[in-house]
Amino acid sequence: MDVHNVDMVMSAVSAAQYPTDGKPEIALVGRSNVGKSSLTNTLIQRKNFARTSSQPGKTQTLNFYNVEDKLYFVDVPGYGYAKVSKKQREEFGRMIEEYITSRKQLRGIVSLVDARHEPTEDDVSMYEWLHYYNIPILIVATKSDKISKSKFNKYASNIKQTLGFDEDDSEFQFFSSETKYGKDQVWEWIEAHM
Ligand code: GDP
Repeated sequence: MDVHNVDMVMSAVSAAQYPTDGKPEIALVGRSNVGKSSLTNTLIQRKNFARTSSQPGKTQTLNFYNVEDKLYFVDVPGYGYAKVSKKQREEFGRMIEEYITSRKQLRGIVSLVDARHEPTEDDVSMYEWLHYYNIPILIVATKSDKISKSKFNKYASNIKQTLGFDEDDSEFQFFSSETKYGKDQVWEWIEAHM
């Protein structure tokens, strides 16, 4: 999609605050620092729209971005940041659970992992949990400019194996916000699920 207009429409902590106009939604999830803001900015062709690097301690909200008046990207706060308190962790869990389990407009989830490393325990729990709810998932392996293309197959199978990847409802794509590798494929997946 060629994106010209994006608005940050809403920061929500609970269902009463979600947008009410019924546009399809694609959620973006991943642990802090995985490259989620960079991916979002690449997809919407902006340099600094989504903030890079999460801000620990800040209120964690779901951020709804209106993209071309056609869909919402729902930016889910980064998980797995070591310094968040137990209370913040619980609030995060409650907020995302409420969203994922109740949101009819949610068409798919782009779930980010770092291409270079084995998925973390948090990555695996998130994947298992999303998978349980039967929502289409695109696993995006970020920062793929840091590994050589000749190793893509090897890295992809390691990531899939660790996650317990299920081809039935999940797809996989390498991505780089540095080189834009995979941008068109991520957009194709999103448009196919809108
Ligand atoms: P977020 O916390 O998930 O939103 O992560 P950011 O988008 O802020 O990225 C975290 C760090 O990783 C920043 O220093 C980015 O410059 C870097 N980064 C993000 N995407 C890429 C990528 O595709 N390639 C490389 N080499 N670095 C990246």
